[in-house]
Amino acid sequence: MTDISPSSPAHMAAETILTHEGREPDEQFGFVNTPVYRGSTVLFKSLSDLEDQKQRYLYGRAGNPTTESAEAVVTKLEGAHATKLVPSGLAAITIALLACLKTGDDLLISDSAYEPGRVFADGFLTRMGITTRYFDPRIGAGIADLMRPNTKAVLAESPGSLTFEMQDIPALAAAAKANGARLIVDNSWATPLYHQPLKLGADIVVHAATKMFVGHSDVLAGTVSATEEAWTEVARTRTLLGFFTSGDDAYLVSRGLRTLAIRMEAHQKRALEIATWLEGQAEVARVIHPALPSHPDHALWKRDFTGSGSLFAFVLKPAPRASVAAFVDEMKLFSMGYSWGGFESLCLPVRPGKARTAKPWTDDGNLFRVHIGLEDVNDLKRDLSEGLSRYARAR
Ligand SMILES: *Cc1c(COP(=O)(O)O)cnc(C)c1O
Repeated sequence: MTDISPSSPAHMAAETILTHEGREPDEQFGFVNTPVYRGSTVLFKSLSDLEDQKQRYLYGRAGNPTTESAEAVVTKLEGAHATKLVPSGLAAITIALLACLKTGDDLLISDSAYEPGRVFADGFLTRMGITTRYFDPRIGAGIADLMRPNTKAVLAESPGSLTFEMQDIPALAAAAKANGARLIVDNSWATPLYHQPLKLGADIVVHAATKMFVGHSDVLAGTVSATEEAWTEVARTRTLLGFFTSGDDAYLVSRGLRTLAIRMEAHQKRALEIATWLEGQAEVARVIHPALPSHPDHALWKRDFTGSGSLFAFVLKPAPRASVAAFVDEMKLFSMGYSWGGFESLCLPVRPGKARTAKPWTDDGNLFRVHIGLEDVNDLKRDLSEGLSRYARAR
């Protein structure tokens, strides 16, 4: 939660933060990593200790050295006041929303945001008497026109993880601030290595740590980080809801973070190479990758991001379901599955149409979302190329 590594100077580069932050070898008999702490009960030595409540740990649910080790890294990378590790990316979103909203309030969500967050707003927040409205992801400063006196939170995700519209975070932040609302940003795609929303005016940043932080498709976890001003309510909300992440899972988050920089570089390079190659393929109608000059919001990406992620989308020319099945069913390296961020490549047919209300998705081609893993690029291209031939034959 706090900067617990006494040796870390403020000016460290991200790669150094990833390798050195959140470690306390002196407290761990010299061992490099903070080990897995498993514990519910924390013991007090005397009645005075019990009454004073001054010990570093009082009860397991509040966290332990293993969870704090991962939190310290994310706090430093995001330039946040503090971070809490939570059980999933979705829990990070729901905690952030509940921290900002009460009965009678109004919420604005980007139409391209992660769908389970919408389901939470439409289902759960509605029951609490909170209204939710969706906005065109590309609205920018125009969001000011949507603000109502009771609008208390804006949830953005840039780029949206199915359709990859970029959002103008500084513009959304300014409009939110002027209305007394908090801006929450889901930063899972870029990670704090390539984009730091708090520095652009956001109040709260959430991550599906499940994805790039963990990097190995074997843990569900999330993080919520915030500015000092927004932190109290975030911490309080998490405590009240009783969310806790086990030391085992926290350890795997830390372990993933140590290699995040080199993994992101490798994912980025491969994803860009494949996206560029796809743009030249006959069956491809368009590739949707913010770091490609063909992306409609490329300028926004260039202004606010220093790199790009593993995930992008492409549209294949209109064809019946049989073509889609021919494309994905016989792939050898790309698999179908929700989630992303692991070492293995994924290719998922998606239909954003169903989930959108403010800015309907009208493209008549078949949309695929891909996560480019750490396989050899030429092997991946061959797999896609054979799939495209099957798609064309079945069309
Ligand atoms: C997967 C995902 C989430 C949710 O994370 P879980 O750990 O699966 O709950 C949130 N936001 C984005 C952008 C995601 O891709």
